[in-house]
Amino acid sequence: MKLILMGIQGSGKSTQGNLLSKKINLPYLSSGHILRNMSREKTPLGRYIKETINSGILVPDKKMTVIMEDYLKRPEYENGWILDGYPRTVTQAKDFSHDVSHAIYITVSDKEALWRLAYRNDVIREDETLKAIRKRIELFHTFIEPVLEYYSSKKILLKVDGEQKIKNVYKYILKHLNVK
Ligand code: AMP
Repeated sequence: MKLILMGIQGSGKSTQGNLLSKKINLPYLSSGHILRNMSREKTPLGRYIKETINSGILVPDKKMTVIMEDYLKRPEYENGWILDGYPRTVTQAKDFSHDVSHAIYITVSDKEALWRLAYRNDVIREDETLKAIRKRIELFHTFIEPVLEYYSSKKILLKVDGEQKIKNVYKYILKHLNVK
């Protein structure tokens, strides 16, 4: 099974991704995490990624697809995966060579997303100032709508209300995946 998790930052994708990963025994990975690791490398690509994510803009589609497809060649991803944060644009979705089984969209209002991101007492990341968060939310909508339409036309889109309790979001997804 190849699952994609979509949702605005703070929608609970990583929480659901980790729960699903344990339940269906597939690795969970996030593009943001991969990029943040790469941004620590003292190479031109590392520095470029650091600058890009710190300014709250997206890594260009072609570069992003190469990064993800390379990463997914690792043996641990051979039997499937749960992917968070990629594809983020319709170009990425169309260029992605993998056959996605389900694209799961966790919905949360902008107000709730802003609140969750700004006030969570998590480690504060360099790219998480309020201004950057607002910019990210705006970018998210611009780019994700066509991705939702794309997966909807392929009949693999599931929308789930992310403002419910974590347990209920999880149950709803499992039911849709036919996992007992
Ligand atoms: P995230 O943790 O998912 O919010 O990702 C952090 C940052 O990494 C984003 O603000 C983007 O700059 C970059 N990023 C993550 N995933 C993608 C993607 N699929 N396409 C382009 N840029 C991405």
